[in-house]
Amino acid sequence: METKAQVLTIAGSDSGGGAGIQADLKTFQELGVFGCSAITAVTAQNTQGVHGIYPMDRQAVKEQIDAIGRDFDIRALKTGMLFDAGIIEETAQGIKRYGFEQLVIDPVMIAKGGASLLQQQAVEAITSLLVPLASIITPNIPEAETLSGIDITDDVSRRKAAEAILSLGASSVIIKGGHSTDPDVAEDFYMDQQGMVILLRSERLQTQQTHGTGCTFSAALTAELGKGKPVEEALFTAKEFIQSALAHPLGIGHGHGPTHHAA
Ligand code: PLP
Repeated sequence: METKAQVLTIAGSDSGGGAGIQADLKTFQELGVFGCSAITAVTAQNTQGVHGIYPMDRQAVKEQIDAIGRDFDIRALKTGMLFDAGIIEETAQGIKRYGFEQLVIDPVMIAKGGASLLQQQAVEAITSLLVPLASIITPNIPEAETLSGIDITDDVSRRKAAEAILSLGASSVIIKGGHSTDPDVAEDFYMDQQGMVILLRSERLQTQQTHGTGCTFSAALTAELGKGKPVEEALFTAKEFIQSALAHPLGIGHGHGPTHHAA
């Protein structure tokens, strides 16, 4: 019997199917791993925006993690939208209770349309409780600025921000370049605790179909780590996966369409 690597996403639901849990599970399927999920919040959402947010009770998050932890052999996991400090506490405790390793943190804060997916006072809970458990944390530029307290204006300040995030205890960080002002290139900056740096550069594709790009990237990384790939290789695969998705927009919905998942 062939068993697939089992991976877990702890994140919010996007009814529009382009981001959150839905993007994660589609990406897991596409990359050949078995995906489980613990839902932290339900959003009423489409390609035009977030129309409602309904956080789960923290007990519901705990019980989902317990159900998975008792039964599955989780090889890697990711967190996405966590919304409040109570859910972050349950998530960190659950990860420790079951000894889950290979944690990818996507520190989701604000949706592209401006909706807040993390309460302001919960940033501190992420940095103190969750970041020290991370194998890798995947902020975009605004998230990296919030986590580090450093304005990213050039390569030097980007490196300083990465060092500040590493000082919070994550094993490695990748600051994604999608939000930079460079018109031609999207460059992601990876750094680990040993000071190893990797730059992932790609052509900046001119598309509006970018909803869920961050979720899909971190899910692809989780899938590859779950299969036992080393982090450098997982990073290249995730970058290629997202670049190819951006190059083949689906044209779904009337707003910022989803980044394409399936072949
Ligand atoms: N909704 C949920 C549930 C998410 O987890 C995310 C992820 O970042 C988003 C929305 C934001 O998607 P985007 O900013 O790519 O439109």
